[in-house]
Amino acid sequence: MRTRAAVIYKMDAPAPYAGSRPLVIEELEIEAPQAGEVLVELVGAGLCHSDLSTVNGTIPRRMPMILGHEASGIVREVGAGVKDFQPDDHVVFSFVPTCGHCLSCATGRPALCENGSKANLAGTLLSGGVRFRRADSQPVYHYLGVSAFAQYTVVAQESLVKIEKNVPLDKAALFGCALITGVGAVINTAKVMPGESVVIFGLGGVGLSALMGARLVGASPIIAVDILPAKFELAKRLGADYTIAASEGDPVAAIRDLTGGGTNYAFEAVGNANVLSQAYRATRTGGKTISIGITNPKQEVSIQAISLVAQEKTLQGSFMGSAVPRRDIPRLIQLYMNGRLPADELLSPSVTLEEINTGFDRLAEGSAIRQLVNFS
Ligand SMILES: [Zn+2]
Ligand SMILES: [Zn+2]
Repeated sequence: MRTRAAVIYKMDAPAPYAGSRPLVIEELEIEAPQAGEVLVELVGAGLCHSDLSTVNGTIPRRMPMILGHEASGIVREVGAGVKDFQPDDHVVFSFVPTCGHCLSCATGRPALCENGSKANLAGTLLSGGVRFRRADSQPVYHYLGVSAFAQYTVVAQESLVKIEKNVPLDKAALFGCALITGVGAVINTAKVMPGESVVIFGLGGVGLSALMGARLVGASPIIAVDILPAKFELAKRLGADYTIAASEGDPVAAIRDLTGGGTNYAFEAVGNANVLSQAYRATRTGGKTISIGITNPKQEVSIQAISLVAQEKTLQGSFMGSAVPRRDIPRLIQLYMNGRLPADELLSPSVTLEEINTGFDRLAEGSAIRQLVNFS
């Protein structure tokens, strides 16, 4: 069958993207799902900084490719041997297909699945296959096994999590990246306890999700840091006790003042090594710094080495919120349905597939948090 899709052919196009148009809307051939695969009609697809990091060339990927990894949709067809899904099921995508039998999967860390990571690097499905073709039969590669900026996509069944049909399906997309990454970093990676202090650097979709997670577990106080004060009103509504404008000097002294020597936890959701170093300095003795943002692979972080020993400080990474997708996505959606995780607050106005380049301009300049592609 055929599907309309936003295809990227070349990274590092000059901004604004509304002019250079790195994502091209095309009709592609999409193959039927093979054994263990599922055809999904997309309903919601969020524009995330990880997509942007390929658009701007920070994290290079195989070209041409269909981006989009934070998504939801409806199962339309299943391949041979698929038992957990059937047509009309509502699903959220997981951007790491988890094989279930590698060492990471076997030790309960599916977010780090070795076979999933290998397939994602190659731009293929978990099987190694590619299901999108151009009219000249050239393959178009898969982004993180999802490729959500298309009306239809084919994915490995290991890339899907089934959700209840009473959940608003378009918004459920947010749980596949922003929420699972941000809330997961707080509850799975850091395991923040009630009354512990938290600072969050970077108030995009992931940072604001970490903020919601910090409030959910009763962290106190919660400090939010960004260079754009326009984001502070929303941060306060989501539970920030204090906001600090990083554009007005080094925020570390202000955080140490507010907390009498630093926070128990610092989350870096900007994706910048200098900010990560600031986050580390903002934690107190025994403090933990969690790196969530995607930094340029060429960047190195500088921290005071002795503080690791003398103050027992920790610097730790968190990928996909150290999540178990089939446990955590339904769990977080349940909290959302009960009013405990106000994920709707992340939503900026939607865009159509045709407006997607303009959407990436808004994301890059920080004037939008999460824009969903509206496929109807
Ligand atoms: Zn695995
Ligand atoms: Zn993402």
